[in-house]
Amino acid sequence: AATVVSGTGLAQQIHKEVQSDTAKLVAQGNRRPHLSVILVGDDHATASLLGMSSSTIFRPSSVSQEEMLELIDKFNRDRSISGLLVQLPLPEHFSERAICNAVAPEKDVDGFHIVNIGKLCLDQRCMVPATAAAVWEIIRRTGIETVGKNVLVVGRSKNVGMPIAMLLHSDRNHERPGGDATVVMAHRCTPLPRLKELASLADIVIAAAGVPHLITADILKEGAAVIDVGINRMQDPVTGKLCLVGDVDFEAVKEKAGFISPVPGGVGPMAVAMVMKNTVTAAKNAPTY
Ligand code: NAD
Repeated sequence: AATVVSGTGLAQQIHKEVQSDTAKLVAQGNRRPHLSVILVGDDHATASLLGMSSSTIFRPSSVSQEEMLELIDKFNRDRSISGLLVQLPLPEHFSERAICNAVAPEKDVDGFHIVNIGKLCLDQRCMVPATAAAVWEIIRRTGIETVGKNVLVVGRSKNVGMPIAMLLHSDRNHERPGGDATVVMAHRCTPLPRLKELASLADIVIAAAGVPHLITADILKEGAAVIDVGINRMQDPVTGKLCLVGDVDFEAVKEKAGFISPVPGGVGPMAVAMVMKNTVTAAKNAPTY
């Protein structure tokens, strides 16, 4: 049976590191790292403090793009703010690209500014999108080998699948080290038989499709590492209660895989921790004048 990787446990490690980095920065006379989150509509985000300060600004879904751009511009210029995150998705009338590109790249803790994405693709040091960074840290801290291994990333979105594939396929000796794996990406146009074939060859499967039970035990290689990024809201057939499930058939896959990350308690808490880590990084890189 697989080792169940505790994202909650690994996130606590990151929390401790972020907390001590924050304490060090402040002891050296720097500003306390501060994360600002802009929420549009009635979605919620978590931000634990870890010795940092944080603030959440709420705007109704009727807020205009122009108002948002003004708000972002104000935050960009505010030196007390180290990291700035605009919660996605935004309502229909927004251009998410315009909003992501409005955040100053050095404060862009989501890593979605076009300059950060460009750097990510060129293996340069940058703000790595939190979910991809979470997958990377889970693999690293669990001691899962990637060099020369076959990795299947299921999902190709620009925010999740693409940056995960970017980290894992790239060169470990580059400025932003990669995993040196042989990476294949599957997506909605990948026929199911082909997905199965690719999965059977994969040493590591990253499921980021948003399709419950897409990854079943029968298609996997014995001992594979399976990281489940999917978050699907489902109604429990027995209790009728709403619950969260990933893209992986956890109970069956647990018996065949070498490692498996659960949902909830896997990538999710790690992704939150990586936003905090990106905020300390932003604070460290901030000019001190
Ligand atoms: P998305 O809808 O933008 O992308 C889904 C991707 O999956 C697409 O590239 C699509 O082509 C592919 N896909 C869809 N059906 C498929 C199939 N049958 N076979 C193979 N590929 C298929 O979603 P996203 O933003 O990339 O998020 C993916 C999942 O990860 C969602 O469930 C989302 O809720 C979750 N998510 C989790 C975190 C986290 O922190 N854990 C963060 C962001 C997103």
